[in-house]
Amino acid sequence: MFRFTSIKDYQAALNAEHTTCIQAVKYYLDQIAAHENLNAYLEVFSEEALHRAAILDLERKQEKRLGKLHGVIIGIKDVLSYKGHRLTAASKILENYTAVYTATAVQKLVDEGAIIIGRQNCDEFAMGSSNENSAYGPVKNAIDFTKVPGGSSGGSAVAVQANLSMISIGSDTGGSVRQPADFCGVVGLKPSYGRISRYGLIAYASSFDQIGIFSKTIEDAALVLEVMAGEDNFDSTVSSKPVPAYSKELESDEIENGASPRRIAYFKETLFHPGLDAEIKTKIENYLNELKNRGYLVEAIDFSLLSYLVPTYYVLTTAEASSNLSRFDGIKFGHRTKESIVDLNDLYQKTRTEGFGEEVQRRILLGSFVLSAGYFDAYFTKAQQVRQKLVDLTKTVFSKYDFIVSPTVPTTAFGIGENNHSATEMFLADIYTVYANLVGIPAISIPLFTHSNGLPFGLQVMSASFNELSLLSFSKEQMASTKN
Ligand code: GLN
Repeated sequence: MFRFTSIKDYQAALNAEHTTCIQAVKYYLDQIAAHENLNAYLEVFSEEALHRAAILDLERKQEKRLGKLHGVIIGIKDVLSYKGHRLTAASKILENYTAVYTATAVQKLVDEGAIIIGRQNCDEFAMGSSNENSAYGPVKNAIDFTKVPGGSSGGSAVAVQANLSMISIGSDTGGSVRQPADFCGVVGLKPSYGRISRYGLIAYASSFDQIGIFSKTIEDAALVLEVMAGEDNFDSTVSSKPVPAYSKELESDEIENGASPRRIAYFKETLFHPGLDAEIKTKIENYLNELKNRGYLVEAIDFSLLSYLVPTYYVLTTAEASSNLSRFDGIKFGHRTKESIVDLNDLYQKTRTEGFGEEVQRRILLGSFVLSAGYFDAYFTKAQQVRQKLVDLTKTVFSKYDFIVSPTVPTTAFGIGENNHSATEMFLADIYTVYANLVGIPAISIPLFTHSNGLPFGLQVMSASFNELSLLSFSKEQMASTKN
C-alpha cells in the first residue's frame, strides 16, 4: 500500500523502485474519490495527472536529471492560474473561465517535476475563515465532518490532512493558510511578502496577498518554498533577494554561523484576549515554559495595538478588494447577466449581483465606503497610519528577539453554520494571523497540540522579513521535540 510520509522518503522509494509516480497518482485519485464528501476539490485532473506520472516514470528510467519536486503530487487552491484549466476563485462570476496563462509559482513547481492533481475549493475570492463562502459548497474538516476546516484555503488544508495531496498551495492575505492549517492539524507556511511571485494569483488585497504552503512536515514546506520563491519579471513587488537553499540548510542543525536564534517574544495581550479558549491558553503557556526550560529566552512584551489589528486589516483589505474586483464586470471576464438590460450600469449591476456571493458583496461595499471622498481620511488614512505604526513596532521587536509566538487561532475548528450569523465574530478568528500580513513578515502554524475536544491546534511563529530559514529551523525543532 502506498503511504506518504515526506517528499524525501517518497523520492527515495521512487529511486529504489519501490513505487512509481503512477502508483502514487492512483493512490491519490482513489483517496480523493473515497473522500468526495469533504468537497476539498473543485476539479481533479485525473487523466492529465496519470499521463504526467507516466512521463516522469519514464524520465527516471532513462536517468534524466530529475527535478527537486520529481513526482510530488500537489493540489492548488482555485485562485492560482494554470493555463488551459478552469479558474473560478470559488465564485459563480468565474464559473466558466479558463486560465490563459500559468502563475509563476505553479510554473516553477511544474518545472521541478511536480504533478498538479487538481483545483481546490476555498472561500469565494479567498474571503472568509471557514470555507463556507464557496459558491460550490462548504468543505468539511476530515477529523469531524460537522466542523469547518477553516478558510479561506480550506480545501487545500483538508487535502493534506486527509491524504488527498502530498502538498497544497494556498494563498494567505490575513491567515488563509495558517488558520486552516491550525484547524486541520497540518503545517501552514506564509512566507514574507514578496518572497514568492503573485503573478497569476487572483488578487484579493495586493499589498497583503502571499502564496503559502500546506505540508505534513517542515522539511517539505522548505523544499517547496525554495522552488517557488524568487525573482519574477512579471511581479514588480517580488524581492530580488537570493533564495537560500532552505531544504539543504535545514539538514545541517547549525543555522547562521553556528548560533541558532533563541530569543522569543510573545505579546502579553494575545494570551489575555477574552475570545481565547482557556485550554489553548494553558497549553500555549505551558509550551512557553517548556521552551524556557529548553534554554530559550522567552519574554512577554506589551502590545497595546492588538484590538486595532482586525479593524485595520478589514479597512485596508476591503479597500484593495473593491478596486481589484472591479475588473469582474461582465465585459471581459466570466459571467454576464442574461437578463434584459437598459444600459452599461445596469449590465454591471445585474452581472455583479448575480455573480458575487454575499460576503464578497459586503466587502466590496465596505471597501468602496472607506475609500469614498467623505470617509477616506477617517478610515483608509487612519488604517494606513496604524499599519505604519505596526511596521515600526515590528522592527523594534526584531531588533531584540528572533521570533514572536502566539496561538494561531483563538479557538479550535467551530461547527459548520455556527459563526454564520455574525461577520464580526468570524473576523475575530483572524486576530492572531492578520498581523503578519499587515507588516509583511513570514509566519507559520506548527501542528503541535490536541485539544481535549479531540481537535488539533497550532503554535504560530513569526520572524523578521526574509528570515524564513530561522523560522523553518525553529519549527523543525519544535516538531521534533513533540515527537519525543
Ligand atoms: N479570513 C481572512 C479574510 O477573510 C483571511 C483571508 C485570507 O487570508 N485570504 O479576509
